[in-house]
Amino acid sequence: MLVNAKEMLTKAKAGKYAVGQFNINNLEWTKAVLETAQELNSPVILGVSAGAGKYMCGFKTVAAMVDAMVDSLGITVPVALHLDHGTYEDCYKCIEAGFSSIMFDGSHYPIEENIAKTKELIDVCAQKGLSLEAEVGSIGGEEDGVVGMGECADPDECKMIADLGVTMLAAGIGNIHGKYPENWAGLSFETLDAIQQKTGDMPLVLHGGTGIPEDMIKKAISLGVAKINVNTECQISFAAAVRKYVEEGKDLQGKGFDPRKLLAPGTQAIKDTVKEKMELFGSVGKA
Ligand SMILES: [Zn+2]
Repeated sequence: MLVNAKEMLTKAKAGKYAVGQFNINNLEWTKAVLETAQELNSPVILGVSAGAGKYMCGFKTVAAMVDAMVDSLGITVPVALHLDHGTYEDCYKCIEAGFSSIMFDGSHYPIEENIAKTKELIDVCAQKGLSLEAEVGSIGGEEDGVVGMGECADPDECKMIADLGVTMLAAGIGNIHGKYPENWAGLSFETLDAIQQKTGDMPLVLHGGTGIPEDMIKKAISLGVAKINVNTECQISFAAAVRKYVEEGKDLQGKGFDPRKLLAPGTQAIKDTVKEKMELFGSVGKA
C-alpha cells in the first residue's frame, strides 16, 4: 500500500538522514527502485514528472502499475508515489489517479497566486491524506523544458510558505537539475542554515541530487535536508550499462536480443545507483 511522505520525512528530519526520491520512467525502473528499497529496508519516494507520466500513458496507468507492483513484489517498506514539479492541473490529475503525494511547483506564479493555489491544494491533500511539497525560489537547470537559473530562496518567503501547512519544502540553495557545470559555485549552506532556522521542523528538499559532492550532501542533511531527488544519475548509469551490453555485441549472441536480457544490465545499474544513494543519504534500515 502506498503511504504519503509525511511520517517518513518527519522521522528522517529528526534522525538526521534523508529519504531518496527516485524518478521512474518505466516498469523496469520502478521494479529496480522498489526492490532495492526492500532489500535495504529503506523508505522510498517514487517521483513522476509530467513528461514521464505522459510517457507511461498517464498518471492513472502509473498509479495502477506502482500499486500492483508493491503488492506483487511483497514490498513492505513505506513507499510514496509523488508527482514531481506538478502544475496546478496535474496536481488534481494525480490526486484523482491515486498518487499519495504531490509537489505543486507554483514558482512561476506571482507570490500571491502561488500562495492562494498552494493553500487550496493543501486543503484538498489534507482531506484525502496526501502530502504536499512546495517550492520557493526556482531550481536551476532544465526539467521537462522548464529552465531556471539556480537562485537562492529568500528564508522569509520559505517561512511564509512553510507556515501554510505544507509537508515539505523545496528551496533553491544554488542546486540545479541535470549535470552540474564545471564552474558551479556549490551549495549555499548559509542560505540553507537560514532557511532551517526559520522553518524549524519542516523537512527540506534538495532537488538536483546528481553530481553534488558527497560531503556537500552530508552537510545539507545535517542542516535539515530530509528528502533528496535523484533522477539524472539513474538515467546515466542505465544508459551506460545498456551501451556496454550492445557494444560488447551481447545482443547478437544467442537470444541476447530478448528485451528482458537487453534491459537487465541497465536495470541492475539503476539498483546499484539507488543503493549507493540510500547508503549516502543514511536511509538504509530506517523503514
Ligand atoms: Zn526538481
